[in-house]
This record gives sequence, C-alpha cells and structure tokens, in this order.
Amino acid sequence: MSDYLKELNERQREAVTHIDGPLMIVAGAGSGKTKVLTTRIAHLMRNGVDAFNILALTFTNKAAAEMKERIEKILGNNEARNLYIGTFHSVFARIMRAEATKMGYPSNFTIYDSDDAKSLLKGIINENNLDDKMYKPQYVAGRISAAKNNLMTPAQYQQDHFIQQEDARSGRPLIGQLYAQYAARCFKNGAMDFDDLLFKMYQLLVNFPDVLAKYQHKFKYVLIDEYQDTNIAQYQIVKLLAAVHENICVVGDDAQSIYSFRGATIENILKFQKDYEGAKVVKLEQNYRSSQNILNVANRVIGLNKNQIPKNLWTDKPEGEKLKLVRTLTDNDEGKFVADAIAEQKLRNHYNNRDFAILYRTNAQSRAFEESLRRMNIAYRIFGGLSFYQRKEIKDFIAYLRIVANPQDEEALKRIINYPVRGIGKTSVERIIIAANESGKTFWEVLQEPQLAGMKGAAAAAIEAFVVMMRSFQAMQQKNNAYDVAFAVGKHTNMVKELYNDKTVEGLARYENVQELLNSIKEYTETPNEDGEVVEDKSLGAYLQQITLLTDADKNNEEDQDVVKLMTIHAAKGLEFDCVFAVGLEENIFPSAMSLYDREDLEEERRLFYVVITRARDRLWISYANSRYRFGSLVQNDPSRFIDEVPPEYMDRSFAGIAGAKGSGSAASSPGGAARSYAPKQQPAKNTTTVAASGNTDLSRIAALNKAKAAQPVAHVPSANFVASDPEQMEQGMRVEHMKFGVGTIIKMDGGAHNRIATIDFGAGVGEKKIMLNYAKLMIL
Ligand code: ATP
Ligand code: MG
Repeated sequence: MSDYLKELNERQREAVTHIDGPLMIVAGAGSGKTKVLTTRIAHLMRNGVDAFNILALTFTNKAAAEMKERIEKILGNNEARNLYIGTFHSVFARIMRAEATKMGYPSNFTIYDSDDAKSLLKGIINENNLDDKMYKPQYVAGRISAAKNNLMTPAQYQQDHFIQQEDARSGRPLIGQLYAQYAARCFKNGAMDFDDLLFKMYQLLVNFPDVLAKYQHKFKYVLIDEYQDTNIAQYQIVKLLAAVHENICVVGDDAQSIYSFRGATIENILKFQKDYEGAKVVKLEQNYRSSQNILNVANRVIGLNKNQIPKNLWTDKPEGEKLKLVRTLTDNDEGKFVADAIAEQKLRNHYNNRDFAILYRTNAQSRAFEESLRRMNIAYRIFGGLSFYQRKEIKDFIAYLRIVANPQDEEALKRIINYPVRGIGKTSVERIIIAANESGKTFWEVLQEPQLAGMKGAAAAAIEAFVVMMRSFQAMQQKNNAYDVAFAVGKHTNMVKELYNDKTVEGLARYENVQELLNSIKEYTETPNEDGEVVEDKSLGAYLQQITLLTDADKNNEEDQDVVKLMTIHAAKGLEFDCVFAVGLEENIFPSAMSLYDREDLEEERRLFYVVITRARDRLWISYANSRYRFGSLVQNDPSRFIDEVPPEYMDRSFAGIAGAKGSGSAASSPGGAARSYAPKQQPAKNTTTVAASGNTDLSRIAALNKAKAAQPVAHVPSANFVASDPEQMEQGMRVEHMKFGVGTIIKMDGGAHNRIATIDFGAGVGEKKIMLNYAKLMIL
C-alpha cells in the first residue's frame, strides 16, 4: 500500500480509492473530508488520470493552493499545477476568459466587486429618479443577486407573478426594471459582477452545446469541498458538467451549512442520491482535530438542531482542557482579557502567535482586540474587513489598469477621469453619461468624440489628452506584462508623483501603499505558479482577474508569519487552530438580532456556533461582555442562549474584571480599519489614522461603566496613589501591586534585559502569575 493510503482510516481509504462513479461523503467537522479530497486527487493522478481532466472546487483559493502543495508532495512531481482547481468564481472566471466572446463580452471583461456593482446601481436608481431611501442600492443589489443565484433573468424576474407581488407589497415595484437596466449596463461596460460569473457560466453551458460538450469531456473527474454551501446556480452548473462521466465526488457537512443567506441550500446534499442513482455514500465518524472535551461540547450543541443528518462523531484524542467561559464588563475588557490570555498561554504552554485565532460574528467586533493586542505587543493580522484592495489609492490605481484591459469599463472611467485633476469636472462627466445613454454608445466611445457631449475648448482638449494617454497604455499591454504596464501607468498619469508630493502622514502611507501594490504586481509577474493560476499568463488581464477574486481567507496570504489571526466565523470555515477564542457570545450579536424570530435562522446560527467550536484543536474560550458600544451607543445584551446549551460539566466559568477600566488607552487605535495588521518593533501603524475626538465618547462611556460596575464584583481596586514603578528596579522578594491582580511578592525573575519576566505570587484567589514587566504596570510597595 502506498504511504499516503496508510495515513488514512479504513473509511477514508474506501472513499479515496473509489475511482469511477458518483460519491458523496457526509461527515462532521474535522473528520478528514478535505484530506480525503486531496488524497483522492493524488490517487487519481497516480492511477493515470491526467491533471488536465480534473476539476476541483474549493472554498478558498488558499485551500486550493494547499491542496496542490500536498498533492505535489504525495506524487513527487509538479503535475498538480495542471489541475483546474480553485473557488467556483475563480475557476469559472478562467473558463469565461476563454469563452466570453461567444456571449458578446470582451475576453478581458472586468469583474465588478460589490462596490462597483453598488455604485453602478446607485447611478441607475438616480437616473430613474427613484427615491434612494426606498430603493436602497444595497437592498436592490441583494434582490438582483438572489435572482441571479436562482438563475433568473431580468425577463423571468419581471414575469414572475409571485416576485412582482412581493416587490409591490414592499413598495418597490420597479426592482425588475432596475435589474434589467443594471444587466444591460454591465454588458455594455464589458463587466460581470460576482454573481454573473456563475450565472453567465450557466447560460454559456446551456446556450452553447458545443462548449458544454467540450467541458463535459474535459472534466472527467469533478470534486467539490464544502458542498453544503453551494447554491442553486453552482449546483446546476456542476450537474451539467458532470452529466457525461458522472465521476463526481462531493464532501460536506449539513451541520456546517452557514450560507443560506446567500442562497446556499442543504437540499443539494439531500438530493445527491436522487440525482445520481447508485451513488456511493461514505460516512466518516472519527474526528482527528479536537480534544474529547471540545468534541463533546460540539456534539451536544449541534444535537439541539432539529434538521440534520444524524452523525456520531468520536475521537481517541485525550480529554483535554475544559472549555473556558469568561464574562467581562465591557467589550474593551473582553479585548484585554483575550490579549492577556494569549500572553499567558504563550508563556505557560509555549504556543506561538500563529496558534491562536480570535473569531467573531461580525467584522465590526475586531476593534477592541486590535487595541489590546497592540498594547501587549502581540503581532496579529485581520482577515476581511477593509482590505488593502479597498483603499482609495489602490482602487484608483487599479481603475486605471482596468481601463487599460477593458476600455468599456464605465465605473473605472468615472472614478479616475479627473484624478489626478485634469480639468474634466463633474458637469462634463454628467454630459458624457447622458450622451452615452442617448446614443447607445459606451462612455469610452463618447470620449473619442467629445463633441457628442457638447464639449469644446479646454475640456475637449483635456479629454483628448486623456484618451491619447490611455491608448498608449492599451498599446503597451499587447507586448508587455502586467508590471510594465502598471509602472507606466504610475509614471505617466502623475499619480505616483502626486502621492509622493503629499508629505502628510496619510499621504506618505498612500504613497507607500501604491509602491506596495507595484511590488506585488512585480512579484506576480516574476513568481511562477504560486498564484492560484495554472497557465503562465502574466498579462494585465490575468492579474486583474486574480486580485478581484481573492477571498477573505486568501488575502494577506502570509501563512508563515507568526501572527494571531482575527476573522469572522464564516471566514474560518474549514480552518483549524490550536487555541480558539469565540468572542461576543451575546444575544443580538450571536445569535444575531435578525435570526431570533425564526427557527430555521436560529438553527443556522447554531450551526455557526458548531463551526466555531470545531475550529479548535486543544483549547477553546468563549467570552461575552455585559456592555459594549455598538453603532455609537452603549448597549447591554444578555449572554447568548448558546452558552446555556454547553453542558456545564465541560465548562469552567470565570470573570475577567479589570479594575479602573478606562476606555481607550494611549495605544494607537484604528476604528476606521486602516491598519489591519501589526508587527511589534517594526513601524507599527504604517497606515494608522489617528482618531481625534475619542475623548467624549470615553467620558460618557466611563460614566456608564461606573454605573454598571457598581453592581459587579471587582477583582482588585488599585490604590489611590498607584504609580507604575520602573521595571528596571524590580527584583526577587519585592512586594508589588498590580493594577488587576492586587498585591503580591516577586518569587522569580527571568528573561533578558529588555524582556524581563517576573513570577509573582498574588496569594489566594489569584495565585502565581508570570508578568512581562515591559507591559504590565506594577508599583513597588
Ligand atoms: P471541516 O469540516 O472543518 O472542514 P474536515 O472534515 O475537512 O473538517 P480535515 O480538515 O480534512 O477535516 O481534517 C482535520 C484534521 O485531521 C487535519 O489536521 C487532518 O490532517 C487530520 N486528519 C484527518 N484524517 C486523519 C487521519 N486518518 N489520521 C491523522 N490525521 C488525520
Ligand atoms: Mg474541510
């Protein structure tokens, strides 16, 4: 038996070695589903299947990259680079680049992210003179997205009696019309939004039988991870592609289905056996990830859901630590508690930063953790939220590149036509839009004939100069790679110079960000095969496609860095960590306020709770705060109902009260989300925006907290004359006072001159603590 088969248990092996015919693996978290999928691909290749004939769809591009690496290790060659492997969106975008001209799109079509889509929609809503309070772009975008994910064209939408009634009842009878206009505009702009990548792919396969036949024959083997989160469009596409060979293998866990809000449906799992008669079904029951205690909690929690396929997940790992439940007074205290616990675990149990994850329900919860991790000098990185690619200067630069690749891209043109300032003002832009709409020409086409928009004199000359410049870039891209084009854009648009001349702190950061973007493009053109792309396409078009389709878990792809990871639970799907902090376990947050009135929604939140529990290998904390700031005001939530669902025998409770708790300390804070990572000792807040006027909030906050605190037991109230002493002067045997732990005696000193650690006995209740003197405030008594 090959070594890679020896690593598997019997059931896993059975799944891996089942070569032909449909196969479904339904199994709980951590049972090796993803491992089976990876090993199965290697096994197929070992048995003569050509990598070019295998299509594997994963949840993130990072997961795909890891799979490739693992397969290369098993096979000892680099054949895996020829696999069609990646997310649904990235694989379909790649196919579309080859086929889109058949549907009238340019092969360098632009991919609109959700900001582009919303901005286009906003324009259309205005053009229709509709009230954008009623027709909120976000809401309309959601309706259109749902329609596309259900494979509904604008015409079908407008003819669907039920939908029309629903829109009329909500007071928005014109959504169908907006959908039609939006779709027409995207097409005219040569653009697809994220949902189009699925929807157009489906239409391509249905309307072009030769294309369908080509890919049906090409993909002899189709494999899908996280099948429980596929939506109707994805389901239908896969069904079409696999229809000839029926060598389809799906793995999933109905208990981890957490995307129904995006149209995913567990039905896809339940239907599999009906769709593929004689499908082999394998169940995996041994969990290899988590300690017994963690798994027991997970099993009990998910057992409370009514709708599920019964499973019996077990482990032979040791019992492990109990789950720790921690209550704090405020969200800031919650942040401090987590940072303290990480520092302590690193010392006591020799963990590294990378062994910790802080997982929350919504991105907005990250601030308190960011602040406290900075204060403790612990390196971290945030996944999701406002990412590098969403910053203004980066979006501006990329808008230029998008126009070079696809001049029809109206959203990009509108964004930079007068940046840097070149005398094409708002009125001119409005005239161009009107002329384009009236003549049926694109924005770019009108720019070629500015007289169509009634432009004369200086404005017409400015437009002409702009067009000449953009054309020169477009000519360049025929012969040059993405970096050469980007470099020329930076130089000839004056963008880099303008940012360089801005000597404010923010200007400097923007300049550095653009440099970083250029570096990353250079790296892209120089690094072979590590970008998730199989073909050696280093063109601007290929580059743009790749960055647009990065998912949260792919961004900041710096797996090797020793950083604490912060992300939403959704983004943590499929991942595992030694130590997990599940934070913000409060009613209205988790479960979210929107899920409280419907059993199905609540069950989805519970599945999310199951997902977060099962990310942990060794240690799991769950925490909640008595009060927190949300949307600018102090709110008090009850502890989450999910806490009561954890059997008490698997859980220790504690309170992390911090005396003298003050709002924000002096550490740099970044509520705007500008600085999304932090590495101590380097320039810490490269892109930090300093937020003024936090003082008022702090005062009212402290007042409110003091009131709340009066009713709470407090661990230690520091002396009125508390002044932190110089850590250099401390030595064994001294009596000291700690802000939080109270009075104690130093029993041991460790560490070097700049990293001194004191072991202090704080007596009954608190016990011995290791304290890093650089960060803790201690007073010698
Ligand atoms: P999730 O549902 O969270 O996606 P999963 O079912 O995909 O989980 P994997 O991530 O494949 O599970 O595996 C969980 C962990 O167990 C991984 O660290 C994996 O390497 C390990 N593992 C899986 N099978 C075995 C095995 N037979 N022997 C040893 N370790 C295993
Ligand atoms: Mg998995």
